[in-house]
Amino acid sequence: MATLKLEIVTPDRKVLSEDVEYVGAPGIMGEFGILPSHVPFLSALGIGNLHYNQNGKTHYVFVSGGFAEVSNNQVTILAEVAEMATEIDHDRASKAKERAEQRAATAKEKIEAARNQAALKRAVSRINCKSSGKTAGTC
Ligand code: ATP
Repeated sequence: MATLKLEIVTPDRKVLSEDVEYVGAPGIMGEFGILPSHVPFLSALGIGNLHYNQNGKTHYVFVSGGFAEVSNNQVTILAEVAEMATEIDHDRASKAKERAEQRAATAKEKIEAARNQAALKRAVSRINCKSSGKTAGTC
């Protein structure tokens, strides 16, 4: 089967370097999908879950901010933050979700509300990433 190289890096570390069959990622304008031989492409990343297919299995990776670049049959994800589903601490994400929900109830400033919304989105995406990985049998 045709493959493309997926590399995910953050400022701290290389998260992943694998030959995969498909990559779906959360672009800032919505989800996009990349198959082998895709034309060159660049997108900013939002907060959400990237997934890739490899040997009949789907793997999930939480990403938050950064850029995705596609060229020469390689997808490079330069993320501000990224965690494989196996690395996600579910309890920590649940606590972050509770905190964001509590703060949302009392937020007065617009900027505060936006910060809470982003924190809530990160927490919910991490929880979903972990449970999708478990359902797929890859976490
Ligand atoms: P928290 O309030 O729990 O710190 P956060 O969304 O504010 O969550 P980030 O700013 O996105 O955290 O990430 C800070 C660092 O903590 C990153 O290195 C990230 O990988 C790590 N991190 C945050 N939450 C989790 C989690 N639930 N499981 C594993 N690593 C996490």
